[in-house]
Amino acid sequence: MENVCYVVDGSDCSILLYQEHPEKYRGNILCDVCREKSWFVKGFATEKYLRAPCFAAHHAEGCNNKIILIPDDDGDASPGPLSVINIDLDKQRKQVIDVVVSQSKSRKDSNWGVVRRYSNVGDYPENKSLRQILTKLTREADFSESDKQIKMVADGGRVVLEGGLAEHLVSQSEILNVPLGEPKIFWGRINNVNRKNGALWLNCGNYKKEPSILIEDDELEEQLVEDFRLKDVDELQGADFIVVGVAFRAGNGKPYIKFGFTKYISFRKYRLE
Ligand SMILES: [Zn+2]
Repeated sequence: MENVCYVVDGSDCSILLYQEHPEKYRGNILCDVCREKSWFVKGFATEKYLRAPCFAAHHAEGCNNKIILIPDDDGDASPGPLSVINIDLDKQRKQVIDVVVSQSKSRKDSNWGVVRRYSNVGDYPENKSLRQILTKLTREADFSESDKQIKMVADGGRVVLEGGLAEHLVSQSEILNVPLGEPKIFWGRINNVNRKNGALWLNCGNYKKEPSILIEDDELEEQLVEDFRLKDVDELQGADFIVVGVAFRAGNGKPYIKFGFTKYISFRKYRLE
């Protein structure tokens, strides 16, 4: 896409205009046909390949501006017949989030290394990663109302959250409806990525109004880049996210989320076809 609509006054925004005024347009552009949120994709050149800058969007069905975005997984997201999702956050590293881990109860060894010993292993017959929950959320409209139970454990047995999955899941549009400062499972879609005063902001849209994920800690950012194999943090533009974190509210009322470790976050990235 080479032109998008600037949502504030409905004017046209070209690639050239965007490059001249990124602060003005970032988070405020839509596909001019289907009105879905858009973002700017930098161009780059290698010896063999040249990609011109462009705009991308998760276009609505049938939009003739459609450029196919391919999610970075196509794995089986089946939740199985079980009603309990158990996530041991200590055991989650990026290497295993990428794959669907199905593990038989009787096996002592797994891809996860040492199998955690639950006080009653029958209570938690399946480990379900955040990534799998995210894939379900993006594929099934009513999964967020699922009656599944969830228990997240970290740091040598500390329970981060426990109870009905539906009570703990908070979509990006609902952040201000839940108590601030309490651990929740937030999910949504990143529209654009920006750096301000050294901090990294993963923005759901307009950074002044819409939710963001804030990463202030340099080490956390480095870990994020490493764990999710990012060549450029811009790769998170358009990505779906799920994060176990805490919501805050900025002085201007805008909500933002902070999290402590990369094991508390997962993404479903997309690339341009
Ligand atoms: Zn469109």
